[in-house]
Amino acid sequence: MPKSLSIVVPFFNEEETIETLYEQIATALAPTGCRYEVIFVNDGSSDLGPMTAQKLVESKPAVSLINFRTNFGKAAALSAGFRRARGDIVITMDADLQDDPAEIPRFLEQVAGGFDVVSGWKQKRHDPLGKTLPSKLFNAVVGRIFGLRLHDYNCGFKAYRREVLPHLNLYGELHRFTPALLHSLGFRVSEIAVTHHPRTHGKSKYGWSRLIKGMIDLFTVLLSTRFRMRPAHLFAYIGLPIAGAGFAALSYLTVLWFIGAGPIGSRPLLFFGIMAVLFGTQMIATGLIAEVVRAGQSQEEDKYLVESEFGPSPQQSGWESSDAQTAAPQALESEDASSQKRSA
Ligand code: UDP
Ligand code: MG
Repeated sequence: MPKSLSIVVPFFNEEETIETLYEQIATALAPTGCRYEVIFVNDGSSDLGPMTAQKLVESKPAVSLINFRTNFGKAAALSAGFRRARGDIVITMDADLQDDPAEIPRFLEQVAGGFDVVSGWKQKRHDPLGKTLPSKLFNAVVGRIFGLRLHDYNCGFKAYRREVLPHLNLYGELHRFTPALLHSLGFRVSEIAVTHHPRTHGKSKYGWSRLIKGMIDLFTVLLSTRFRMRPAHLFAYIGLPIAGAGFAALSYLTVLWFIGAGPIGSRPLLFFGIMAVLFGTQMIATGLIAEVVRAGQSQEEDKYLVESEFGPSPQQSGWESSDAQTAAPQALESEDASSQKRSA
């Protein structure tokens, strides 16, 4: 069992379920004997939910509450909760009782088994088709693009080793992509099936529109992960085939014109060719601009993430030489010494 556990619960107008959720968490964790805190993040609720949470804060020392000024979205709420979390392992779960706190120990076991992130999978999902169908499509596309096949990217029930959290930059609606974001940095991600309950109180905050938003965010996430250091490649993957098709169409028409096989000025293929060449080259040019911006901004820590490093620290690097006379390297002039010299 971990030494300590933080449970982050974002909520937006979930007044009926907050208290019950806290009780269920307390009941589920009592037998585990681990230390825990519950961090509620009120994402601009306009109902009595924040009052209920406030009462819990007053009566339970392990509960805290962050109140947003307005509705900034689930990703921002999670981000605020992560900042406050002190546990070795951080669990996130929805406030609407669709996620079952009794599953928390299974998440902990999985993390103890060596995973950095464990994502829940609502295997038997109790949501309408309008939610499950777009979700299937989304998981298939994201899984394929990132090479991380999860059944349920969007599940709010997840566990993280706290060390990974500083590497997550969550904003907008990027909370759906946390496994992909962390996987692309080399963290170990796994998935466990969890029980899922139907929503019995309140309303869902998301509908069909999340598929469209998710697909736009997919582009953002691709640009900030796989193509972070080479944005021109992503734009070229899109631009080159289109410009190529346009070029082929125009070449074909040029040949027809030369051999005198009829007028080409009014053929739809001509317009297609011109448009495709223009669009494709514009995409490639946009990518090159992105590359220049990237090159001007990138810092060493943007390029890679070191898991571990061995040997003496670079400051006291152990030099070796067969010649005792030249063994010790010349001490580099320290900052202080040189600045003293300058001021002298
Ligand atoms: N939520 C939030 N801010 C928002 C929308 C939702 O904090 O802008 C919370 C919501 O209160 C719930 C969780 O995110 O605790 C998941 O939302 P919901 O249950 O509506 O999503 P669904 O289960 O329908 O996918
Ligand atoms: Mg829900």
